[in-house]
Amino acid sequence: MLNEKVIKLLNDQVNKEFYSAYLYLDFANYYVDKNLDGFANWYQIQAQEERDHAMLFIKYLQNNGIAVTLGAIDAPDKNIAAIVDPAKFALEHEKYVTASIHNIYAEAMAAKDFRTMQFLDWFIEEQGEEETTADELLKKVEMFGGDSQSLYLLNQELAARVYEAPTLVL
Ligand code: MG
Repeated sequence: MLNEKVIKLLNDQVNKEFYSAYLYLDFANYYVDKNLDGFANWYQIQAQEERDHAMLFIKYLQNNGIAVTLGAIDAPDKNIAAIVDPAKFALEHEKYVTASIHNIYAEAMAAKDFRTMQFLDWFIEEQGEEETTADELLKKVEMFGGDSQSLYLLNQELAARVYEAPTLVL
C-alpha cells in the first residue's frame, strides 16, 4: 500500500502532465496560425508525449490498486507574442515539471516507498532529456528564428520529428 501523501502527489502529477499536453497543444496551435507546420508538428508530438506521461502515472496508481481522481485541467495561460516565446515557456515549464517529480521522489524516499522511487527513475531521466531538448530548441530558435531563410530550414527540420511511444511500459 502506498503512502497517502505520495498517492496525492502522484494524482496531482497526472493533472500536471495533462496540463503540459494542453500547453504544448496551445503552442502547436499558435504555429499552425503562423503557417509554421514544422514547429506545429514538433509541439503536437510533444503534447502526445505528455499525454503518455499522464497515462503512465494513471497506470502506476491503478497497478497499485489506487482509484485515480481526475481534476479540471487549467487553460494554457502563456501569452505568446513572438515565434521564440513557446520555446522559452517550454524550457521554463519543463524545469517546473522536473521540480515536481523530484518532490514526489523526495516524499517517496521519506516514506521508504522504494517501489515509487523505482517507478520515478524513468521520469527523472526523461526530465533531464526534456530540459536538454527544450534548451537546444530555444537556442536554435534564438539563433535562426529572426532570419526568414533560416526559419524556413528550421521549420523543415522540426517537420521531420516523428512520434515515438515511451520506453517505459507498465
Ligand atoms: Mg511530462
